[in-house]
Amino acid sequence: MPTQTPEPEKATFVETALKLSGKSDDEAKRTGALDRADEQVEAMFARKYQTGGSPVHRAVWEDQFPIELFVAPEPTTPPECQKVMDASLEVVRRHVRAKTLLNEQRKITDTALRELGDAGYWGLLVDREFGGSAAPFMSFARFLRQMATVDPTVAGLASVHGCIGAVDPIRAFGSPAQKAKHLPLLASGNRLSAFALTEPCAGSDLTALKTEAKLDGDHFVVNGEKLFITNAIAGRTIGLVCLIDKKPAVLIADLPDQENDEFQTKRYGLY
Ligand SMILES: Cc1cc2nc3c(=O)[nH]c(=O)nc-3n(C[C@H](O)[C@H](O)[C@H](O)COP(=O)(O)OP(=O)(O)OC[C@H]3O[C@@H](n4cnc5c(N)ncnc54)[C@H](O)[C@@H]3O)c2cc1C
Repeated sequence: MPTQTPEPEKATFVETALKLSGKSDDEAKRTGALDRADEQVEAMFARKYQTGGSPVHRAVWEDQFPIELFVAPEPTTPPECQKVMDASLEVVRRHVRAKTLLNEQRKITDTALRELGDAGYWGLLVDREFGGSAAPFMSFARFLRQMATVDPTVAGLASVHGCIGAVDPIRAFGSPAQKAKHLPLLASGNRLSAFALTEPCAGSDLTALKTEAKLDGDHFVVNGEKLFITNAIAGRTIGLVCLIDKKPAVLIADLPDQENDEFQTKRYGLY
């Protein structure tokens, strides 16, 4: 069979420039090889994935703002989800009008949280088989934006509960038994959830995480302290970021309903 001789590689711009500036052939070739590898990687990706194809790049360098790339299509909200959304907005509007949304500690009242549960608010992202209404995420996001104009805290609580708290990890990774145990309670608002990551010395720097969970028989024993946790008071089923066998992990933990020797909430100090 005839053998094909590979075409000699063309010198890259960097290689040529280095040679012209008096560098040795060897050095120019080595740096040129890096430049060529970079070009090959770029060539492997479609233009839309390259920096040059990004809307921001185009806005800055091509003096055009491709608005169409930022416009999301209108979500279609199923009527049963819309009903839940309208009812939830009505609950909050009514309490805002009557000035009964907050208690003396400026927290959302238990009554308002319960009425929101009755309206189906906490189950918007939970599947129907577990008592939720399985709203499409885009509809949920738009609805939360609307809720935030009525009361941002109520909107924030649902965002934490449904997106970063316990609902999403259990839906995505839970076993059938875990789903059956937790999701109905989370959908009804019987248990609200929180996401506990930040610690007194671990905020931006998560490698400083200290909270540890150790398996002891059927249970994990957790030791640690968390800070700035949205929904910490109302949220009782939490996504707890901790170290298990020295590796970061998320544990779905039911907090005790009452404080005791092992579990306390306290006022923040200065760190
Ligand atoms: C309203 C609110 C709600 C929150 N809800 C939750 C929640 O539900 N769950 C949860 O886990 N956490 C929550 N947090 C905590 C939040 O995620 C942390 O505050 C955040 O991660 C920052 O950590 P920190 O406050 O310890 O600040 P630090 O990490 O101490 O940072 C302090 C300052 O230093 C800067 N900085 C830090 N590292 C660097 C660096 N390497 N280079 C340059 N600058 C740096 C930061 O930008 C910041 O300005 C909430 C915070 C707020 C304000």
